[in-house]
Amino acid sequence: MSKTNLVNQRQLLQYLADGKFYSGQWLAEQLGVSRTAVANYLNELKQHGLEIFSVKGRGYKLTQAIQLLDAHKINSLQRDGSPQILVQHITDSTNCQLLQRLQAGQKLQPGSVIVAEAQSAGRGRHGRAWYSPFGTNLYFSCYWRLEQGMPAAMGLSLVVGLAICRLLQRQYQVKAQIKWPNDIYVNNRKLAGILVELAGQVDAGCDVVIGIGLNIGMPEHSKQYIDQPYTDLRAVSLQPVERNSLVVQLQHELSSILQEFAITGFAPFVTEFNQHDVFNNRKVSLLAKSPISGVCRGVDKHGGIIIDSGHATDVYYGGELSLRSGD
Ligand code: ATP
Repeated sequence: MSKTNLVNQRQLLQYLADGKFYSGQWLAEQLGVSRTAVANYLNELKQHGLEIFSVKGRGYKLTQAIQLLDAHKINSLQRDGSPQILVQHITDSTNCQLLQRLQAGQKLQPGSVIVAEAQSAGRGRHGRAWYSPFGTNLYFSCYWRLEQGMPAAMGLSLVVGLAICRLLQRQYQVKAQIKWPNDIYVNNRKLAGILVELAGQVDAGCDVVIGIGLNIGMPEHSKQYIDQPYTDLRAVSLQPVERNSLVVQLQHELSSILQEFAITGFAPFVTEFNQHDVFNNRKVSLLAKSPISGVCRGVDKHGGIIIDSGHATDVYYGGELSLRSGD
């Protein structure tokens, strides 16, 4: 998108963000563009999942008010010396954006973050899509350096889940659970997903990109894109959600837990993880080459999942494994 179009689209959104009606003519005058240009900007946003009403004679209106990401506000909320948070408008995927920077040899400070208003190619695991509509959720990627090397990646994904649970509990009094190894649930509905990707040479230490998609206010139409129960923060929290603050809080929470993890490894987090584990002491099925059934007994000190099959208790590692209810 050209710089002018980007500036115009952001300006348009600043008017519409309050969820009130604005006529096409009035909006065109404010931006100094034609009504057709206004319609085109809005069509593009609609294609990225923003729900916009248009009523003849009244103009345009968002179905729900939104709060735009604001780089200045985010910056002013950060503590001195905090790593950079880059705000993007529409991007392919915030993880891809960080990975590209690393591949290009850019030096990043651990804890650096990219957030975006929408992702056109948001990703889950195994090439699955993460639905990322415009302006209402959090699409957040953080760079980290894993000095303990790749075997620690398993525990890292789990402590990221704990960081999200701690933040949700403290700021929003929301009790979240983790589905090993990478999903956050509230009331058995998926609220957030984590995608940890390793970058570059994997030897003694490695570069890691931690992607977090967290639903704040999913538009009604989202159900046609998601094939499992999901929820959003607006539905489960009594507190209003301020997206810009949430970005800063999440960066801070993540950096703190990851620093702790770098020193201690996963062992001190086992109890806390098991308290948040969706499947602890429940029947599960582990989707592996040949599926494994049993009762989940939590995780071990490296973050592997412990499954009691009745005649043996085994531990399974691997970010590619998926756990399902066995009930
Ligand atoms: P696994 O246990 O293997 O992680 P998963 O179904 O949770 O299985 P992920 O790769 O973690 O898979 O996440 C992708 C899945 O999440 C999609 O296939 C879709 O079902 C669901 N999904 C996509 N977008 C969203 C969203 N915004 N909110 C909640 N769920 C979503």
